[in-house]
Amino acid sequence: LMIRRPPRSTLDRSSAASDVYKRQVGGTWSMTQSEALFERAQTRIPGGVNSPVRAFKAVGGTPRFMERSDGAYIFDADGNKYIDYVLSWGPMIMGHNHPQVRDAVVQTAQDGLSFGCPTEIEIELAERLCDLVPSLEQVRMTSSGTEATMSCIRLARGVTGKDKIINITGCYHGHVDSLLIKAGSGVSTFGLPDSPGIPKDLAQHTVTVPFNDIDAFENTYKSIKDDLAAVIIEPIAGNMGFIPGEIEFLKILREATSACGAVLIFDEVMTGFRVSLGGAQEIYGIQPDLTALGKVIGGGLPVGAFGGKREIMEQLAPSGPVYQAGTLSGNPLAVAAGTCLIQRLIELNPFEELELNAKFLLNGIKEVMIQKGIPFVSNQIGGMFGFFFAEQQPRNFEDVVETNDKNFEQFFKQSLDQGIYFAPSKFEAGFISTKHSASVLINVLSKIQAL
Ligand code: PMP
Repeated sequence: LMIRRPPRSTLDRSSAASDVYKRQVGGTWSMTQSEALFERAQTRIPGGVNSPVRAFKAVGGTPRFMERSDGAYIFDADGNKYIDYVLSWGPMIMGHNHPQVRDAVVQTAQDGLSFGCPTEIEIELAERLCDLVPSLEQVRMTSSGTEATMSCIRLARGVTGKDKIINITGCYHGHVDSLLIKAGSGVSTFGLPDSPGIPKDLAQHTVTVPFNDIDAFENTYKSIKDDLAAVIIEPIAGNMGFIPGEIEFLKILREATSACGAVLIFDEVMTGFRVSLGGAQEIYGIQPDLTALGKVIGGGLPVGAFGGKREIMEQLAPSGPVYQAGTLSGNPLAVAAGTCLIQRLIELNPFEELELNAKFLLNGIKEVMIQKGIPFVSNQIGGMFGFFFAEQQPRNFEDVVETNDKNFEQFFKQSLDQGIYFAPSKFEAGFISTKHSASVLINVLSKIQAL
């Protein structure tokens, strides 16, 4: 498919509306660049994307193909500029293309891209993570969040000698076989609570319980506690929209797992260095046995990590028998990016300000929705936020399913046309960065008032 691109100077860079683009170039141009690229991508990439939610299936329309990013903004292949509230699904907490993080990567790259041997900067990152995240005594790097949670599950089964896992409905822990049972995020977006390809024999070891439902947890727990290896949870859920765990619920998980010798796993891939420097566990004052991390700790490069109590972590190979490994684990570029970003976060400690800014944004949207008579609720912690088109704040996945799809879709599309990029599914959280300054927020609100 050969579609020639008009000179960039003919593009209206101030507007995200693709029809403006079509009008400007007249009859010679019938497709936007994103449409053309999406069509081309679908020939060689399943569904045209390398991760399902990117395809916009829940909201319809063409996903925007991005070319570059800067601070609060991303720029698509048609020259449109968006204020971005997805931020690469979390990592860009200090804005896109942060100059110091980029310099750290470039400088590190001068000395080599990967060695497959240990390096000093890996120790520095491990030390930093253990200093900041309350429950970490040892940590192992991986290349993705999925690998981190998958390794937590194997380690929990390895140390307990048991097989059963309690997974919370609507939490998403990556595409790990044992954890894709009633999972959130893209799995919910596509209505595939159980993916084909997961053996029934494996799935039977995963039992699901609704988020924030103490009675349901206690009933399930009583019936399987003798076989229970682990309970895994996003303490602040970001994959069924944004729903903070209730402290009583999390406390009960902690007590119950301790009582039967099971491992409590907090999946902080999203919340780690996003809601506070010490993650959700610091906010709640509850220490899990194992923690999965990712996203921010890689500064935008492919990264994950998991860590916890020394006596558990030392069961990992080579110090122990539970096997876990990775060709690119602890990759120097990823470690350099993550270490640099965490250092900036320590210096700035922006979490309170991020939360205030998120609240300001959401209150502004709420006012607009009230005027239109559209039910709208929202919530935020640190640099993470969420909103639902509903009368009441949902407490779990089952509530989120009931929230209004049409209103979400309309809001998403209208915002996108105005150059505001929210996550394209009601099952995703929102993210805000230190570059979403007051003037950016006021600009966003003035656009939303005009919707
Ligand atoms: N856990 C949580 C809480 C996540 O949000 C995600 C990804 N969104 C993952 C695990 C998986 O991480 P990755 O996509 O890096 O494999």
